Amino acid sequence: MRLSKMHLKTLREVPNEAEIASHILLVRSGMIRKLVSGVYGFMPLGWKAARKIENIIREEMDNAGGQEIHMSAIQPAEIWQESGRWYAYGPELWRLKDRNGRDFCLGPTHEEIFTDIVRTDVSSYRQLPMNLYQIQTKYRDEARPRFGLMRSREFIMKDAYSFDADFEGLDKSYNEMYDAYERIFTRCALDFRPVEADTGAIGGSNSHEFTAISEVGESEIAYCENCDMAATVERAECIDAKPENEEMLTLEKVSTPGTKTIEAVADYLKIDKNRTIKALLFVTYDNEGDVDSYVAAFVRGDRTLNMVKLINALDVPEHTIEFADEEEMGYETGCVGGFTGPMGLTNCKIVVDSELVQLKNLCAGANEKDYHMINVNYGRDYEGDIITDIKTLREGDPCPECGKPVKHARGIEVGQVFKLGTKYSESMGAMYKDENQKDHPIVMGCYGIGVTRTLAAVVEQHHDDNGIIWPMAVAPYHVIITLVKPNDEIQALVADKIYDTLIKAGVEVILDDRKERPGVKFKDADLLGIPVRITVGKLAVEDIVEYKLRREDDKIEVSVDEAISKAIKIVSDEK
Ligand code: ATP
Ligand code: MG
Repeated sequence: MRLSKMHLKTLREVPNEAEIASHILLVRSGMIRKLVSGVYGFMPLGWKAARKIENIIREEMDNAGGQEIHMSAIQPAEIWQESGRWYAYGPELWRLKDRNGRDFCLGPTHEEIFTDIVRTDVSSYRQLPMNLYQIQTKYRDEARPRFGLMRSREFIMKDAYSFDADFEGLDKSYNEMYDAYERIFTRCALDFRPVEADTGAIGGSNSHEFTAISEVGESEIAYCENCDMAATVERAECIDAKPENEEMLTLEKVSTPGTKTIEAVADYLKIDKNRTIKALLFVTYDNEGDVDSYVAAFVRGDRTLNMVKLINALDVPEHTIEFADEEEMGYETGCVGGFTGPMGLTNCKIVVDSELVQLKNLCAGANEKDYHMINVNYGRDYEGDIITDIKTLREGDPCPECGKPVKHARGIEVGQVFKLGTKYSESMGAMYKDENQKDHPIVMGCYGIGVTRTLAAVVEQHHDDNGIIWPMAVAPYHVIITLVKPNDEIQALVADKIYDTLIKAGVEVILDDRKERPGVKFKDADLLGIPVRITVGKLAVEDIVEYKLRREDDKIEVSVDEAISKAIKIVSDEK
């Protein structure tokens, strides 16, 4: 492609909202174009890079036995009502009506649609296992679209679904997809880590998230350097502190004026925060938006409540729970903001972190302004409706598998795999007949990759101050020829020769033949991040050009033939 003919508009300035490198660079290099918040279009170079990622995914999915299909983005509400997710998905589901008032949504994911295909088309064990996938546009009306392609409202996803006769088959399908994901992200040159994950609104039992390591990522993972434990922080199990061998002391009410926080009360009573009980107050809503129940959750004072674990314990859709208004909840349940404890609450679900059950003589709010209770003990003084692990595994806490201190890292979730089991096949009636004509639900798995988010993650991991540094496998073009003086006949001839030869060799080449100053061309070449740059300048008369890799500082002067053969070699080695 001749750059003089390419639709390319690079920008000097980017909007303030672009905070992270991938967002800034993809916009500055003119690869993506914002339409409205969370909705982006792709310009020629950006689209080529996205297609490279798609093709890597496609190759690996096909090799793993997947069959590509393409379903519509528009989905009828009825099918979501069947699975129960029309309501459970909440406001992220982009709903719309047709002219007759019939409800539809724009698919955020396609479990229902794929389950519908197999329940219609599959009837016998002979047709299983099967893996169907698509690379298609998804819609999620995200509460906070941000970071460009990272969290957008319209994005491209590869979603695959496996269908097996039994759970052993599912394990095999799941492992095949897991291995394919490792190959895909390796080929995309990502530094990533598969970690155990929560199953969220998709449902099912097991799940792994593939996380590209990055400071700007929205996922936080906990991992152990001593063993192979690695999980999202939401998922990571947290070991209960071991109780001291203590006698229960007499329960006492003490005056603690103005101590509305754990810090304040611990300071006032001169005790460690780990000798206190922290209360967090929530309200859940029903289908109609009316209050369903109040929830008081209790963890040790120095702990952080893990919202995902709490939501799982309560078994409510994520969008139906929020922090309660203390005054309103106090009126209904007897809690007192800043002084809430687990004793004497009425009309509310009490969720107690498992650790508190063993610990003795703690301090908790007295449900009375300016008072706390001391020597509070589970069983004797209060009980919970739900007792489970609802705390967050912090950096330095003991590893749930080997006990050594865990580490934390941030990352970008680029893909996730789930063992769905029979959740959808049972609710939607996707059955098959075995050898004896007996009916069984099909056992399912689902596997997603954010294509456009992966593109952003690649840029996030491969850039410098001057621009993108595309890894060869996903680069929109392999080589850029910078023609310093397009009017110079010899230079133009040499550049054309290199261009034609490389194209014949299957290399994807841009020829920067624009009538711009050399400085502008070099700046743009760096910004666009094409892996190999061949500069054709004054020395072209002597058959000499400059060869440079975007990822390295060094440039070398070589003969035209040598530049061509070096470029062909590196492209075939790395693409
Ligand atoms: P997140 O937790 O980041 O919201 P998710 O767990 O809801 O993502 P999945 O339902 O697992 O996402 O979707 C599969 C993949 O689609 C994700 O791993 C991610 O790469 C991509 N993805 C999800 N939401 C978005 C989005 N808003 N913008 C871009 N890509 C997304
Ligand atoms: Mg996910």
